[in-house]
Amino acid sequence: MFESLSDRLGGVFDRLRGRGALTEADVRAAMREVRVALLEADVALPVAREFVDKATEAAIGQNVLRSVTPGQQVVKIVHDALVAMLGADASELLLDVTPPAVVMMVGLQGSGKTTTTAKIAKRLATKERKKVLMASLDVNRPNAQEQLATLGTQVDVSTLPIVAGQQPVDIARRAMQAAKLQGYDVLMLDTAGRLHVDQALMDEMRAVADVASPQEILLVVDALTGQDAVNVAENFSTEVPLTGVVLTRMDGDARGGAALSMRAVTGKPIKFAGTGEKMDALEAFHPERVAGRILGMGDVVSLVERAAESIQQEDAERMAAKMAKGQFDMNDLRGQLAQMQRMGGLGALAGMMPGMKKAQGALQQAGGDKMLVHMDAMIGSMTVKERNKPELINAKRKIRIAKGSGTTVQEVNKLLKMHQEMSTAMKKLKKMGGLKGMMAMLG
Ligand code: GDP
Repeated sequence: MFESLSDRLGGVFDRLRGRGALTEADVRAAMREVRVALLEADVALPVAREFVDKATEAAIGQNVLRSVTPGQQVVKIVHDALVAMLGADASELLLDVTPPAVVMMVGLQGSGKTTTTAKIAKRLATKERKKVLMASLDVNRPNAQEQLATLGTQVDVSTLPIVAGQQPVDIARRAMQAAKLQGYDVLMLDTAGRLHVDQALMDEMRAVADVASPQEILLVVDALTGQDAVNVAENFSTEVPLTGVVLTRMDGDARGGAALSMRAVTGKPIKFAGTGEKMDALEAFHPERVAGRILGMGDVVSLVERAAESIQQEDAERMAAKMAKGQFDMNDLRGQLAQMQRMGGLGALAGMMPGMKKAQGALQQAGGDKMLVHMDAMIGSMTVKERNKPELINAKRKIRIAKGSGTTVQEVNKLLKMHQEMSTAMKKLKKMGGLKGMMAMLG
């Protein structure tokens, strides 16, 4: 659903892109599609409506900038409205009370609650040097308490010893006492989940909250569950005083919709994003970044501005001619890499154009900005023939290139793969007739 949202918005903006002036009708038409796109991405209806109203108002009320085309300006307006709605106020946990500060984790079974508890505990222990105690109050799911203990050992954070048969509220009391007596800074309570929201669960949450008076009550939601996540958030936020949301599985496909809805429905900031199963796969939530991801276009406007500065018109035209013929050799790749560096490295390039997005992924995997330098060295070690016709590069040649550039055959392989992916992307782009749009963007 993440892909379809960005694709749709891409389609909307492609139509606006490259036009000299925008009418109010243009903006309204675009915003209608933005709304459909958001709904398709499982954003709750009232949330989508509110978002579109705000963005439309902003778009219509604004003068067209001269430096960018109107289409891009609408993109920027939608982007800014997304950031605002996602909460420009990204904040981490607020735990400055007389210790122990209590963090209570709530959510449905399978949302990633236990995993996230351990991830946050690890983060607090290592980054903020807090002394953290974790306790599982989950007496429903077999082995839930043991699971937390195992994770505790993994991340080197203490867990409350398990007492068989003890009920959640009593465990919470015992945990509070232990945390106080043993001088812990933070106590993390991992509460029980259920398959569905039910009253017994909510009563239990409230009883635990009464006993532990948590500074933070974090709702853990699986970003992949879409519309369902909204219902869950609604239920929890009316029953317990949430202070924030953690979205898990942001490493999956479903990033856009859930984040937007969660923020709007709970009115609480999204504090963290879970990005994998490993214990360090937890990130502070960055509205800017997520808005960019939702749009799938990065910070288009500032990129366009920077691109215009650093890309020579002739360069762009020469590239366009080559791409139109479906040719893209190592010389072109080298030129692109140099441009990337001028524009501020990989980070600046996010989502700038289709071929680049793929290449960026490959590059990031290959080791990021440092890799740009290596790649330039590798291409420098190729013969003229090899640069013009990379398919000539066989195993023997790879070894020579690696030696010549002080790199490894694996790195040469990655470079070749990236070149391959970029030329495929460009051929596709050519087929879709998207070149004109892209050139307008590179302007
Ligand atoms: P709980 O029932 O809510 O406590 O859920 P668990 O913490 O046991 O997590 C359920 C599964 O989801 C486990 O296999 C976790 O490794 C996995 N998981 C949790 N968070 C993430 C995440 O951010 N990304 C991915 N890919 N998997 C996650």
